[in-house]
Amino acid sequence: MYLGLSGGIGSGKSTVSKILYALGAVVIDADVIAKEVLFPGTSGFGSAVNAFGSAILDNEGSIDRKSLAKLVFEDPNELAKLEAIVHPAVVARVTEIRESLPESVVVVYDTPLMFEKQLKGQFDKVLMVVADSDLRRSRLVERGLDLADIAARMDNQATDEERVTIADFVIENNGTLEQLHEQVAKVWQQISA
Ligand code: ADP
Repeated sequence: MYLGLSGGIGSGKSTVSKILYALGAVVIDADVIAKEVLFPGTSGFGSAVNAFGSAILDNEGSIDRKSLAKLVFEDPNELAKLEAIVHPAVVARVTEIRESLPESVVVVYDTPLMFEKQLKGQFDKVLMVVADSDLRRSRLVERGLDLADIAARMDNQATDEERVTIADFVIENNGTLEQLHEQVAKVWQQISA
């Protein structure tokens, strides 16, 4: 079972994925995989050096992520080039991981922009975490994020009303962490049955 997990910034996705992990799911961290597919020796590494030159390498011959980030931040064409290398490699790696696991295992993939990038079709089921914007903001401020930064990110994301239209399961995270656990456990019962 391949479960897509999504929700706006501060909705509680990471918390939900930790609870699912504790319940027995395999959680795929896309950020970790996006780095792994550029490690020396991978085909992604070769493609990136071909595309951007050896200036992106550090003294040890690995890709210097800061140089690469700077390069793509400054130029949308370069960003598109990098995405064209990283994205298919991540998809291939995730497929490999899923195929190495029995069907009965619940594999969770946390992807913030599922609605925006229309990724629903990749998953067997979609779990959406929603929460009131004020609550999301205050939880993120507590976590140390800057209000202006939060506002900018929220403005770039879909609304909860849009998100729930693609969901098989919706969790409303407006209560306590204990209530969140209970709701996740209910979804878990349905998907791991
Ligand atoms: P996301 O991954 O969607 O950005 P997180 O899971 O990191 O959101 O949650 C944002 C912050 O809110 C975290 O610090 C988390 O511990 C806290 N949090 C999440 N759900 C609750 C809750 N029900 N009650 C209190 N704090 C919560």
